[in-house]
Amino acid sequence: MNTSFVPPRRILMGPGPSDVAPRVLEAMARPTIGHLDPQFVGLMDSIKLHLQRAFDTTYPLTMPVSGPGTVGMESCLVNLLEPDDVVVVCQNGVFGGRLKAMAERCGARVVHIQDEWGRAVSPKRLASALSANPMAAAVAFVHAETSTGALSDAQTLAGVAKEYDCLTIVDAVTSLGGSPLHVESWGLDAVYSGTQKCLSCTPGLSPLTMSPRARQVVERRRAPVQSWFMDVSLVTEYWGSGSTRSYHHTAPINALYGLHEALLMLHEEGLQAAWARHKRNHLALRAGLEALGLEFIVPASERLVQLNAVAVPEGVNEACVRARLLKEYNLEIGAGLGVLAGKVWRIGLMGYSSRPDNVMACLSALSRILADEGLANSVAEATKEAEHVLDTYESD
Ligand SMILES: *Cc1c(COP(=O)(O)O)cnc(C)c1O
Repeated sequence: MNTSFVPPRRILMGPGPSDVAPRVLEAMARPTIGHLDPQFVGLMDSIKLHLQRAFDTTYPLTMPVSGPGTVGMESCLVNLLEPDDVVVVCQNGVFGGRLKAMAERCGARVVHIQDEWGRAVSPKRLASALSANPMAAAVAFVHAETSTGALSDAQTLAGVAKEYDCLTIVDAVTSLGGSPLHVESWGLDAVYSGTQKCLSCTPGLSPLTMSPRARQVVERRRAPVQSWFMDVSLVTEYWGSGSTRSYHHTAPINALYGLHEALLMLHEEGLQAAWARHKRNHLALRAGLEALGLEFIVPASERLVQLNAVAVPEGVNEACVRARLLKEYNLEIGAGLGVLAGKVWRIGLMGYSSRPDNVMACLSALSRILADEGLANSVAEATKEAEHVLDTYESD
């Protein structure tokens, strides 16, 4: 109680947070300055430009919301939805369910599409829901469903939404920095993300971007946004351009130093290279996990590269394996959520965690613990398969 808290050194290979790059932590330890200090305003402009590049958009309303990914999610919904608006929410995991619950709290009439957990959102089912509900004003879905490890085709889903003149609200919390994401050319209207997944940064900020079309919807609202804090028209008085910034809330200054550094790292590496790195390490881990006898729950063509969901083999104590990984190897992996609780492990390779040394550490630790659980396997075989992928991978 009266001593400083010194956390253990873990390897974070769960569904987030992922390992934070040392450079980011160093940046965050720099002196705090005022949230309206001209030097800080310069940093804010730089963060906005870096975020536009990361999202691949020129939308002027691009900024980090002060709050975790869930606040970015709620910001999109409370600004864009009003009571009695019809919104189609596609759910294929836990986070789609959260979108639905929030949309309902906005008073919207939710048309709920339930897709199979572990599969991508179906564009066909979206199209039929939209043709049955011509009054729909918006479509919301999760690009990278971290609860199941499934990647949806955001470009195709947005194309369907556009045919029915709907806004698209997209959860890119886990995709930003890890998988291809082209906000503007794909026609996505309101997209939010998080800093603690593939951006190698600490939790607590939510990058957000809105198209001019989405901003117009906010401007034409019948009633003010019910949340004062999340009302983008008010937030942009602080995050907006030029020298007329005014106080809205005290920005998390040091967290923003961290985000700036993380975005610098992303652009030094290059977006394409970051996506390729996530894919290479995923394919290596996949080869090793399969050699250990584990099976992925998502079909290969719909799999995330930053989150590997594998079924817990019959007779293996799911929680015990995770506890031993943490205690004996300082390695954190994730449990299943919702209907997948107790049935899967979720092994993340996100941001700074997506590295060959982590792939190898995870395979050798899992090999030993699974053997103790009665699952005969060969660590030599698993690491050989993974190394083969690392040696021969060519990015596409
Ligand atoms: C992690 C996550 C969130 C929530 O982010 P928080 O920072 O925990 O609020 C939302 N959506 C998806 C897909 C996520 O993976």
